Amino acid sequence: MIVAPGSTIGIIGGGQLGRMLANAAAGLGYDCHVYAPDLDPPAARVAAQATRAPYDDIAALRAFAAAVDVATYEFENLPAEALAELGAKLRPGTASLAIAQDRAVEKSFIEQHGGRVSRWITVDSDEDAEAAEQALGLPLVFKSRRLGYDGKGQAWAREPGSAGAAWEAIDRAPAIAEAAVDFAAEFSVILARSAAGEIAVWDLPLNHHEGGILRRSTVPAGDLVDGLADQAIAAATGLAEAIDHVGVLTVEFFATADGPIVNEIAPRVHNSGHWTIDGAATSQFEQHVRAICGLPLGSTRRLAPSVSMDNLIGDDVLDWPRLLAEPGAHLHLYGKGEPSPGRKMGHVTRLRN
Ligand code: AMP
Repeated sequence: MIVAPGSTIGIIGGGQLGRMLANAAAGLGYDCHVYAPDLDPPAARVAAQATRAPYDDIAALRAFAAAVDVATYEFENLPAEALAELGAKLRPGTASLAIAQDRAVEKSFIEQHGGRVSRWITVDSDEDAEAAEQALGLPLVFKSRRLGYDGKGQAWAREPGSAGAAWEAIDRAPAIAEAAVDFAAEFSVILARSAAGEIAVWDLPLNHHEGGILRRSTVPAGDLVDGLADQAIAAATGLAEAIDHVGVLTVEFFATADGPIVNEIAPRVHNSGHWTIDGAATSQFEQHVRAICGLPLGSTRRLAPSVSMDNLIGDDVLDWPRLLAEPGAHLHLYGKGEPSPGRKMGHVTRLRN
């Protein structure tokens, strides 16, 4: 299926990822139609058309499917059964969604395909929470199976006997408990896979998180991560092939003394790939458009010896006049209005020699 420039791309989800996807699609001559339940989502303001409807509104999804030539999603907490209405027009398909939106399904899938994850068990009761402490030791982290992002839906147990309280802190939601990984660094593999099975990978970014939120990504990632790159790329490629994923796929890793350990999969463009807009020959957003439209993939070549991307979180965005004045800083603002703590408002990319 080739969706030629001039066609309409549907984007499900209205956040900054959808906004940057729509911008990239416009650059290749496509129109975008954003589907989201929110009032005035950031992506809709840069798109040709928008539908405001709940994600499980079958009639609205059918009308949306009829109005677009291909559709994609910019986040994974979506009802896979409802999105099946989009049939073959949806790229990536619902299999990628179903795997990435439930942490237990995701971990099992990674293990089945030879990837390594931290030791984990499912938690559905107080007995399970206590058993997790016995089985996995301390510290350990409880993560809700669904709807967690940016460190939300997570709680750590550090003291003996505190597992129940940690599970309570995430509202006793169906969860997984995971042993703490003693990692030296965090990094990600961002790849694109075409419908024909062609794969393109960017340089691996080193990712620095604070409070569960990505603060900064840098490429090159340094010797430690570069030494694990082949193994990590092989693991990420194997997962993309196993799901028959079409589009950009991100796999987040911990770098440990025993090699790369997968943290999680995102079946989409990713915050740690924002550096590619200014720092690579083809951005992750343009590449995703190419992949889902059946166009050839572009070069992932890095354009400078080093590139860094800093998120502007909450009030960081108020610094925009200074960042605009900084020579060589590439400022990206998401048009989200008032900043609030923890909210991703924009990012700034710097290329260095
Ligand atoms: P996640 O939402 O699973 O990506 O977790 C957010 C962040 O919490 C990660 O990027 C890590 O910095 C930290 N984290 C999550 N799980 C673990 C773990 N098992 N061991 C150590 N740190 C973790």
